[in-house]
Amino acid sequence: MSDTLLFVNAAQTVTCAGPPRARRGGEMADAAVRSGIGVAVQGAEIVAVEPDDVLRARFPDAREVDCDRGLLAPGFVDSHTHTVFGAARFAEHELRATGVPYLEIARRGGGIHSSVRDLRSRSDDELFALAGPRLARLAAGGVTTVEIKSGYGLTVHDELRTLRVIRRLADAGPCHIVATCLAAHEVPLEYRDVPGGREAWLDAIVHELYPQVARDRLAAFADVFCEPGVFGVEEARRVLEGARPHGMRPKLHADELHDGGGAALGAELGAVSADHLAAISAGGVAALAASETVATLLPATMLFLGTGRHAPARRLIEAGAAVALASDFNPGTSPLQSFPLVLTLGVSELRLSAAEAWIAGTVNGAAALGLAGVTGQLVPGFRADLAVHAVDDYRALPYWFGERLCVGSWAAGRACHAPR
Ligand SMILES: [Zn+2]
Repeated sequence: MSDTLLFVNAAQTVTCAGPPRARRGGEMADAAVRSGIGVAVQGAEIVAVEPDDVLRARFPDAREVDCDRGLLAPGFVDSHTHTVFGAARFAEHELRATGVPYLEIARRGGGIHSSVRDLRSRSDDELFALAGPRLARLAAGGVTTVEIKSGYGLTVHDELRTLRVIRRLADAGPCHIVATCLAAHEVPLEYRDVPGGREAWLDAIVHELYPQVARDRLAAFADVFCEPGVFGVEEARRVLEGARPHGMRPKLHADELHDGGGAALGAELGAVSADHLAAISAGGVAALAASETVATLLPATMLFLGTGRHAPARRLIEAGAAVALASDFNPGTSPLQSFPLVLTLGVSELRLSAAEAWIAGTVNGAAALGLAGVTGQLVPGFRADLAVHAVDDYRALPYWFGERLCVGSWAAGRACHAPR
């Protein structure tokens, strides 16, 4: 019995083939879509991308996955999620709709603080059990790599607990999980009105939490919510520079609702990504374009918040930046578990071409996790992270929005979402 798996009979194959790094500016326009091309997988790795008849001749004993004239594509890389949380937050959705702004809801102890109270009250087993089906739903949309942030614990103990739940999810597979420590998501309420409280929480993150995260290798990245009213640029700098000696690379939530200089800070610090950017300044656009930092845009959040505006994706691409798309899946501002819908928003709201949206959700999502040489492309030597969608043209996936069109996804050659 051969352990080779052939993905054949695809109408189109989105290979995203190209250099193993973030695609910038005009490079994003080409998703290297081909016809009559299949993929051979051995174990966890792609070993050949050739016409079907060539693959069959080369691997005569292989098992076949019939793509049924659908679309064969790289698994999506969802490079920004907050998948480990307790309850949903329906009430807030309605409050915002009736005119109460997000930061005001947070100031009243709602918003993120309700998720913090909730997470602290739950056991590790409960959090693990809640997250599993969410990952399965992401996989059912073609996602094979998911970044998950902590940030609803906001004590050293509960941040570590969250990161250990993320570790359990990673060990359980089959989706690849990347962990990010977002202890600097907000100032915990118990520190808020105490003199020196903000500094005390930042001290706890840098001096107590980070060494323990590093000791148990619980996170690849450190993140901070850099936004006027949350953490300022100098506080964000402290959090991210404090993480570096512990082996965590910087990422930021930056300039989501107001320009606070977060994107420029990300570029200056060599952050792997700066995320949100709906209120980025012209200086921030220029700084990202001149840097290696991926501009990760989260259009579902802006849609769900009903802000009526979006990050300037076209300006970023035209300036030469690398743009990624992610779901920002979280209970407050983006309860979205369908990555293809993120592509739709990329095209309809951010004005990306379909090819740019594909690159943003695959190659550039991988780059936003430091994985551009590992996943996001269908080329030999890359990890066998693939999905099959029941459409015959790569432009049709963002077009038929709201449909469940993914019929199978595989991470490192293992099924994440079973073909029908
Ligand atoms: Zn986020």
